[in-house]
Amino acid sequence: MVLIIGAGPAGLAMAYQLQQRNIPYKVLEKNQIGNSWRNHYDNLSLHTLKEVSGLPGWPVPADFPEFLPRKKVVEYLEKYAEHHQLNIVEGVGVTGSTYHDDHQMWHVDTTAGREDCDVVVVTTGIWSTPNIPTFKGQDEFAGTIMHASFYKNAAAFKDKRVLVIGGGNTGTEVAAEIGETAQFTGIAIRGGTTFVPYPKSAQAMKVAAVLFRYLPDALGHRLLKRGRPDFSHLKLYPPEGYLTQNYPVVGYELPDAVEAGKVEVYPTGIDHLTADQVVFSDGRRESFDTIVLATGYRPTVDFVAQELELNKRGWPTVNRHWQSIKNQRLFCVGFAYPNTEGWIQSITRVSEQAANKLATLAKRAKNR
Ligand SMILES: Cc1cc2nc3c(=O)[nH]c(=O)nc-3n(C[C@H](O)[C@H](O)[C@H](O)COP(=O)(O)OP(=O)(O)OC[C@H]3O[C@@H](n4cnc5c(N)ncnc54)[C@H](O)[C@@H]3O)c2cc1C
Repeated sequence: MVLIIGAGPAGLAMAYQLQQRNIPYKVLEKNQIGNSWRNHYDNLSLHTLKEVSGLPGWPVPADFPEFLPRKKVVEYLEKYAEHHQLNIVEGVGVTGSTYHDDHQMWHVDTTAGREDCDVVVVTTGIWSTPNIPTFKGQDEFAGTIMHASFYKNAAAFKDKRVLVIGGGNTGTEVAAEIGETAQFTGIAIRGGTTFVPYPKSAQAMKVAAVLFRYLPDALGHRLLKRGRPDFSHLKLYPPEGYLTQNYPVVGYELPDAVEAGKVEVYPTGIDHLTADQVVFSDGRRESFDTIVLATGYRPTVDFVAQELELNKRGWPTVNRHWQSIKNQRLFCVGFAYPNTEGWIQSITRVSEQAANKLATLAKRAKNR
């Protein structure tokens, strides 16, 4: 039996792939199907077209909008599980595990007791735990510091002076939204960022995904650079290094807000905080009473930690079949982020690769 941990898009795709191959499995989900999407901010929509945001075996229904709003993502995931009659147990979290090499079995500890299985597939995602940096002088800061994962909408920021830290898709979108309401809004972007328009053609996204997977970085970079607008006049600078290795911000909400004078850009890091000011690394200082950390997430995989090696980002190190390099009976699916492809777009391919390998393992065990 294969135990899949987490019923987000990756867990559901894996469940479908195993079901297709007649491999017995069970999905354990600590909350509800699509839990992450239940908790994101109110106005979040997918940035990827629905044609490339469906999971294997059942596309996003034709009557759903082109860019699914957050609640529609949850609805699609629920319907997907129902459509394929996937074997999912909600409300059961995994807390620990032991792998017994002598009889090649896992004992998995859950909030509902122990589960025994042959293979574990971790699909708890790279967005499970907020990444929260600390700043010098933070204890003196009299204002509020919150991670973007707690942001719902801009209503609470009226009359506030807000600094958003981080120039990814979340930071730029949240800053533009807060800029409509707050007394003053700034965004600190240390490493640079580039912007692309909302995609118009699913076919073009598919071609780009294949092309940039195989093109050498230097060539891919040159092509991408040519196609991306330059917002340096707004202090929105491109990142250093190859663009093929940096996920772009989708949509021009932030450049528009900066142009309209609704958001101020600080193209630098944070040096320290005082009681009411942020002192930037370039020496500028500004008063703020709220700081929103759009500083990303990291995975939480403590429950299988002993069988994993993590890279410097805290992501599991896996082989090309998505197996842990420390244990071939541990798969980690969804722990890679293709920079030139939608994440959900990649999951059909990735889950298929993992499931094919799992099928080979199952066949070998049967013949033994
Ligand atoms: C703000 C934001 C916007 C995004 N927009 C897009 C987009 O437009 N297009 C796109 O393609 N991708 C997008 N992504 C990326 C990606 O598609 C989503 O994050 C997606 O939800 C990742 O799926 P996942 O299954 O890996 O993880 P998750 O969706 O996070 O699912 C993990 C599941 O595991 C469960 N879980 C965690 N720990 C345990 C445990 N110990 N035991 C049992 N269950 C557990 C959680 O409750 C959760 O349900 C976005 C990501 C973010 C954060």
